Amino acid sequence: MRYVTRFAPSPTGPLHLGHAFSALTGWDRAQAARGSFRLRIEDIDTIRCRPEWEAALREDLAWLGLSWPEPAVRQSARLPAYAAALGRLEAMGLLYPCRCRRADIRAALSAPQEGAQAAGPDGPAYPGTCRGRPMAATGPQDALRLDAGRALALAGADALAFDETAPGHAGRIRPDPAGFLAATGDVVLARRDLGTSYHLAVVVDDAAEGITEVVRGEDLAAATPLHRLLQVLLGLPEPVWHHHRLIRDAAGRRLAKRDDARALARYRAEGATPADIRRMLGL
Ligand code: GLU
Repeated sequence: MRYVTRFAPSPTGPLHLGHAFSALTGWDRAQAARGSFRLRIEDIDTIRCRPEWEAALREDLAWLGLSWPEPAVRQSARLPAYAAALGRLEAMGLLYPCRCRRADIRAALSAPQEGAQAAGPDGPAYPGTCRGRPMAATGPQDALRLDAGRALALAGADALAFDETAPGHAGRIRPDPAGFLAATGDVVLARRDLGTSYHLAVVVDDAAEGITEVVRGEDLAAATPLHRLLQVLLGLPEPVWHHHRLIRDAAGRRLAKRDDARALARYRAEGATPADIRRMLGL
């Protein structure tokens, strides 16, 4: 099978060194495999995403020497595909409408006897207040959540397992189902304002684009068992994952989009070359 990977930024701020590391890692792996490197614009969050950030990130990536087939997939144009996937999960009885607001969830989580909460990809797992509400009762202000316990019962514990290719942890990773339910649990698959969520969109798009290896930061590894489960439920092909190390600042904190000091544009303006960037990243 031909190797295909992607870099999937959200255009919500300037690309910084961490993004450059992710994009270059994917690019280098695609080159080594004589495969293909794709760009995907993850712009479902129309409030935070801006066309000027997309233009800037394209310019930065081209400056680094990367190229990709155009037109790049844009998630905001793919809402019907996400709706179709939601429809399948709904038909399987795996979704329920949730009317909880953040404050309700915080209050439920801090109730006594809840025990220590392990955090999943979206923070602590949802306490399940709305679980079991019928889809017919969905209100316009409701989010849709995955009934993770049911989903796992249907798909089987092996549905969480995935192949990791990053050096140091390469091999088949088999997450513990009980740990998955406790930490990840009933995630939101359709936000009330968007009709989808990152988890659903990324899984649907990786399949549509024929991605064979997902290259992304190890901060997203916590979401991978969930993504694998969604692939199994939706009958989508199984890629492998390469969760790379994160680029940290001098204080050891991971870089965030607001860290303009580490923005690629800043280094460019100061006269750095793409080779300098690679050196700084240890590539
Ligand atoms: N859009 C995500 C981000 O900017 C990346 C998602 C992924 O690679 O799966 O962090």
